[in-house]
Amino acid sequence: MTTAAEIKATQLPVAYFSMEIALDPAIPTYSGGLGILAGDMLRAAADLGVPMVAVTLLHRKGYFRQHLDSHGNQSETPYMWDPNQFLEALSPTVTVVIEGRQVQVKAWRYLLHGASAYDVPVYFLDTSAPENNSWDRGLTDYLYGGDERYRLAQEAILGLGGVAMLRALGYKDLLAYHMNEGHSALLSLALFEERMAGLGADKAGGAAEAVRQQCVFTTHTPVPAGQDQFPLDLVRRVLGEKRTRTLEMEQCCFVGTLNMSHLALFFSHHINGVAMRHAEISRSMFPSYPIDSITNGVHATTWTSLPFARLYDRYIPEWRRDNLYLRYAISIPLEEIRQAHTHAKAMLLGEIAGRTGIRLDPDVMTIGFARRAATYKRADLLFSDLDRLRRIAKEVGPLQVVYSGKAHPRDEGGKRLIRNIFQAAAALKDDVRVVYLEEYDMSLGKQICAGVDLWLNSPQKPQEASGTSGMKAALNGIPSLSVPDGWWVEGLVEGVTGWAIGECYQCESDTAQETASLYDKLEKVIMPMFYKEPEAYGEVMRYAIALNASYFNAQRMLLQYLDAYLRPQQPSSVLT
Ligand SMILES: *Cc1c(COP(=O)(O)O)cnc(C)c1O
Repeated sequence: MTTAAEIKATQLPVAYFSMEIALDPAIPTYSGGLGILAGDMLRAAADLGVPMVAVTLLHRKGYFRQHLDSHGNQSETPYMWDPNQFLEALSPTVTVVIEGRQVQVKAWRYLLHGASAYDVPVYFLDTSAPENNSWDRGLTDYLYGGDERYRLAQEAILGLGGVAMLRALGYKDLLAYHMNEGHSALLSLALFEERMAGLGADKAGGAAEAVRQQCVFTTHTPVPAGQDQFPLDLVRRVLGEKRTRTLEMEQCCFVGTLNMSHLALFFSHHINGVAMRHAEISRSMFPSYPIDSITNGVHATTWTSLPFARLYDRYIPEWRRDNLYLRYAISIPLEEIRQAHTHAKAMLLGEIAGRTGIRLDPDVMTIGFARRAATYKRADLLFSDLDRLRRIAKEVGPLQVVYSGKAHPRDEGGKRLIRNIFQAAAALKDDVRVVYLEEYDMSLGKQICAGVDLWLNSPQKPQEASGTSGMKAALNGIPSLSVPDGWWVEGLVEGVTGWAIGECYQCESDTAQETASLYDKLEKVIMPMFYKEPEAYGEVMRYAIALNASYFNAQRMLLQYLDAYLRPQQPSSVLT
């Protein structure tokens, strides 16, 4: 933890920018893994007393409430919440010029408490000021809502408005600016403009280098289509001629578009993907940049269920202060692990009964799958061959499945996935029980990740940049059955910490092979072990904790980032 001490010694804070941050289930300003990661990073900073400050948007209407009818058709309503209940309104106002208008931006503050005395302030930017016109007032209403124009304006508020707000709040000198994904890339333009104020164009190279010394960029998108980009004529309209020319001069625009990843890459000294495999993919996408990897981690005390937290407190009380101690879970008696799990499972089944009236059987092998309903995550892979699944349940042992996840309101493919699962559930109703829980969020995520017996993850390779829900499962002793993509390439020890879907680790996905492998593993390896060799299954659970929870946690991740903040000349190379 010496890096934490070094950062404190500089007395300079690190500013962390993210379009979404998951702080509390009652603050609906996040949609998925990106926001959870941001929240976990800041929770780890609050524990270690690392002086970070964070900037995000208020998202006054939240990331929608999800309603599913009996066929799995999703509809959405705004998720209204009252910032006054959780946040403190601050007095400064800054302006961002959008389409030539002076848009007024205010901020709210949330103080994130951790194990140290230092609370991480999170600043939520808000454009609802009465001076703004009605369109501008709505700019901080919806997370990932609206069209390109709305998104670009939001990113201008986050990046340009965020830097201006930090200055207005008295943050003049910061150690580093961290862009969590490309949405906040315009912060680098704001820093560049500050450096260039009063200087001639001949100083641009030096100013860009000075900005670069301060910026860190984490990319999360392993596919070019996922990158945030805007046509230049829109950029010209929204940001104005002068800023557009600056962006063009700094080579951030290609073939008539402003690509936010390229902007962030150009202005960062440290760039990383979120798992080793993802960094490899990113290097092939952006060959002219040095791309490191810092594998994601989850905040251990947030995602460990009560029964396991009590167990760790008894056997390895140091685990809260230093997550590396989870390694010593290896000496916890199997019987204790199984008991803690039985308790966590009962809690989940109780929650499910309370929400749906459906009583699942605590003695039946239970598979969990909860994440955003995006097509590449292939939530329905398990249902590719219903007859085979029926046969497995009949011959090897009974099976039940718990699903949860929201589809983005305009993602028809994701919505179809949810309907497919409802259809399969209906077809399987006498053989395999399947429940789909509405309103996936942090608290439900925690309960599902802790209460099932097996965590299933079936993304299409190589599209899962990291994935973190399997890490939450590992903290609770739940092994994964997963396609080796993202973090699982690193976390998988076959038959020890869990199992792989598909035998070829390097290839792109082959659905037929992966489906066969998924069923084979369930039928021949996992379910027989679960039902006939509970001791052996318990050992896999214990290894999942000792080998994976001790490493895939936010404390280790934060320390690796601190190295990148502190040593701009030598990008951290811990993992490569
Ligand atoms: C952990 C979590 C995620 C991210 O999980 P992935 O495995 O990365 O998809 C998304 N949403 C919620 C609510 C979570 O708790």
